[in-house]
Amino acid sequence: MNLKRGLITVISGPSGTGKGTLIAGLMKIDRNMHYAISATTREMRSGEAEGISYYFKSRDQFDSLIEQGEVLEWDEFCGYRYGTLRSELETKVESGLDVVLDLTVKGAMAIKKAFPEDSISVFLLPPSIEALEERIRGRKRETEEQLKDRLAQAEKEIECVTAFDYVLVSDSITQAPKRLKMIIDAERQKVRRNPDILERLGLR
Ligand code: 5GP
Repeated sequence: MNLKRGLITVISGPSGTGKGTLIAGLMKIDRNMHYAISATTREMRSGEAEGISYYFKSRDQFDSLIEQGEVLEWDEFCGYRYGTLRSELETKVESGLDVVLDLTVKGAMAIKKAFPEDSISVFLLPPSIEALEERIRGRKRETEEQLKDRLAQAEKEIECVTAFDYVLVSDSITQAPKRLKMIIDAERQKVRRNPDILERLGLR
């Protein structure tokens, strides 16, 4: 029997800070990490795929998932809904798999509350607001109005950093994933996260 539960790592931070790049970098250097794919009502962007980037849902489909109790937490971001699916998280954690999530601040706080023992929260900060604006502009994904909306949201989100367990700055696409992996590896070695070792030693 697997006594060990998986560790949930929640990554939050303003849109455009590089959460996706950080998580992709982490998955490359940490083969034991699984990504929890969220459901969203926003339209698919070029380069994205169903069931890989997100599960793309209509508003009605999304709302019926909520009604069925399949959504552990959800938030609205720039007019669209995003939610963590029970099927993507619970079974993995219960079977001892480590999972990383990319969530809004509200989502991060909800997961922290729902899984206080199993989760850690990491806030990813941009090197500066100017760097963030440059990055969002460079992606050329948003209209000017959407860009302003995302920047305003970013400034609000940054104020929430104090509610998180860890902070990282997205200053290097090679170093930031390594720093994140160090945090995760240390958390994995916490005594309470290793009941199998304690059992072998006859200490539980
Ligand atoms: P994007 O549209 O850029 O893919 O994502 C917009 C925002 O939604 C990002 O800040 C991302 O962290 C957040 N997000 C993605 N999936 C979820 C989710 O399942 N729950 C919550 N609360 N936020 C999510």
